[in-house]
Amino acid sequence: MDLGIKGRRAIVCASSRGLGRGTAEALAEAGVALTLNGRTADTLEETAENIRSRYGVEVKTVVCDVTTDEGRAALLRAEPNPDILINNAGGPPPGVWSDWGREEWEKAINSNMLTPILLATAVLPGMIQREWGRVVSITSGSVKAPIPQLGLSNSSRAGLTGFVAGTARQVAKHGVIMNNILPGQHDTDRVKSLMDSISKRENISVEDARARAQAANPRGRFGTAEEFGKIAAFLCSEHVGFMIGQNVLVDGGAFNSTMG
Ligand code: NAD
Repeated sequence: MDLGIKGRRAIVCASSRGLGRGTAEALAEAGVALTLNGRTADTLEETAENIRSRYGVEVKTVVCDVTTDEGRAALLRAEPNPDILINNAGGPPPGVWSDWGREEWEKAINSNMLTPILLATAVLPGMIQREWGRVVSITSGSVKAPIPQLGLSNSSRAGLTGFVAGTARQVAKHGVIMNNILPGQHDTDRVKSLMDSISKRENISVEDARARAQAANPRGRFGTAEEFGKIAAFLCSEHVGFMIGQNVLVDGGAFNSTMG
């Protein structure tokens, strides 16, 4: 399917690896010019070069922490008029409610709620003026069903979800479409570190932790960044013009429900 976005311009946050990279690759395949972001120059450049050589699209890179004011300003200097914004950043660490005080809460809220809100706020006026825009925020299945050890993620992403729910309905009439994509367990560094922490906490091997988690999923495996990226790119396509403020779960069926 032609996504109808060839020649559009995108900022893809936290995209040197993992789900951000999967999304960047699928957008590049659709002919979108990219501004990629990561915190390590070597990894980011390697990803950018790989995407340039495979898809022949323009790829800019911005080495920065997207959760800082300076990082977001640098991204917007590199791409001041994006048609597409993919909100993404690393997730908060696991723990239990009694581990977290003001500092931990402020960090999680800054990374997974305020950062995407502030970036969207910065790019929405231009999208509204040009009467076309797509803002896709990578959140988590934890928005629909809490993951007890990821309370910082459950809570901060719920705040972002509330912002998108209301704002999507305010900007839709201008051709600006906002939706969220909710990953379940995908085989990235994030899941590797979560499996490490389960292995330590429960005194089982990492292989056993992985096997158990995969067996518990109706699909019997983790998702891949590539298949996730293609769904995220579809949410940036010309075809989602009547799809407003949705939360699209990509979790292999892990969320057990008849509807919703
Ligand atoms: P990841 O931790 O593997 O990170 C992917 C990339 O983002 C890395 O290249 C990393 O360097 C970069 N990055 C992280 N924080 C950054 C920052 N502050 N500034 C710039 N770059 C940054 O994550 P992932 O698995 O690709 O997941 C992406 C998001 O989706 C995370 O918020 C994660 O918590 C969430 N999520 C992931 C899963 C999963 O199974 N992988 C499930 C639910 C939610």
